[in-house]
Amino acid sequence: MKLRDLETPCYIVNYEEYEKNISQFVGEFEAQWGSNIKFGYSVKTNNFPYMLQRAMAHGFYAEVVSPDELAFAGRCGCGMDRIIYNGPQKRDTLFAACSGRAIVNLDNMEEVDAVCAAFRGSAVSPILGLRVNFDLEAECPGETTCAGIPGRFGICLENGDFEKALAKLRRSGLKLSGLHLHQSSRTRSLKIYASIAAKAVEIGREYALDGLDYIDIGGGFFGGSFFAGKPAFRDYAETVCRTLRGFYDPQKTTLILEPGAAILATSMDYLTSVLNIREIRGHRIVTVDGSVVHINPFMNPHPTPFTMIDPGAESDTEQIIGGSTCMELDRFWPRDMKNLAEHSSKFMFHCCGAYMSTHNSSFINAAPNIYLYKDGGYTLLRKKSIDGLFP
Ligand SMILES: *Cc1c(COP(=O)(O)O)cnc(C)c1O
Repeated sequence: MKLRDLETPCYIVNYEEYEKNISQFVGEFEAQWGSNIKFGYSVKTNNFPYMLQRAMAHGFYAEVVSPDELAFAGRCGCGMDRIIYNGPQKRDTLFAACSGRAIVNLDNMEEVDAVCAAFRGSAVSPILGLRVNFDLEAECPGETTCAGIPGRFGICLENGDFEKALAKLRRSGLKLSGLHLHQSSRTRSLKIYASIAAKAVEIGREYALDGLDYIDIGGGFFGGSFFAGKPAFRDYAETVCRTLRGFYDPQKTTLILEPGAAILATSMDYLTSVLNIREIRGHRIVTVDGSVVHINPFMNPHPTPFTMIDPGAESDTEQIIGGSTCMELDRFWPRDMKNLAEHSSKFMFHCCGAYMSTHNSSFINAAPNIYLYKDGGYTLLRKKSIDGLFP
């Protein structure tokens, strides 16, 4: 299929871009830490099976944060021993994941108590990590997502809960295999990663954890092209690995990374066609067949990079690009638009691979088709459907 044959609106997976992102990310971290390293694909960032399966083909684990994501990864062919299980809602899947030798990062004291009760004196030795909640905002003022209120995931270091959790595991004869330190941040800066890695070192020293099997730094790295001057994968890898080597030995301790946006953001585009054009009191209003909720689910008015296909004349006429739903605020924000959109025009929005299709609902439009762009041609990977609305 050619571009003109695609049914719009649709997402387009760019095969080469995705492969390139994965190999570069993996390559830079392996160059710094060696081969004792694991990568988890963040399912919540993009839950299209093809994306997880390609990552698995590169040796990735599936990083999941709910029983439903765990089941999803299973249906994608991921064995329990290739799962990294995070998040606050493992519920009754906690035990199966532990028994099946998933990497299970305990998020709260209830989970610590539950595994201690279930596996005390058991022949099964689960692979357990503790997700650490520490005051990153104190070290990187203004940079964390929750500036002003504490981040709410993991077990608090400063109030002694982390030490209590360690003691509980020890008393139950359960080994602590690793630390999990994922943090989302506003800036995704190198300073954030230097601080996270330094905290892993500090905890290791304080609690004599140099024999840990793994340190899981999580995700949160930059992807996409919204911001000039963002750190490159190499900068992240150097910062994290240099800091961790201050205490952990790459021969003994596995480094785990859980990239989502870093590998996914630039790997999908979104294509939408013009439906109609009208003039309303001096404004040119262009309505397209897509909806902004497909590429900007929280409708922040931030400009999206795009390419116009079949553009009209160059013009500085102000144009409102509206989506096809009946919501007034369904508006696209193409970045630096220089041409008129005409009836034959299409917008190809870029950087649509992270936290976009995951949020698709069936509000007015069913979730769009997904195509694969590979070797110069397009193939349909998933057809849109209203089946999900029926029992
Ligand atoms: C969301 C999440 C990730 C991925 O985050 P990105 O910002 O998309 O890289 C990784 N690990 C955990 C635990 C997460 O919650």
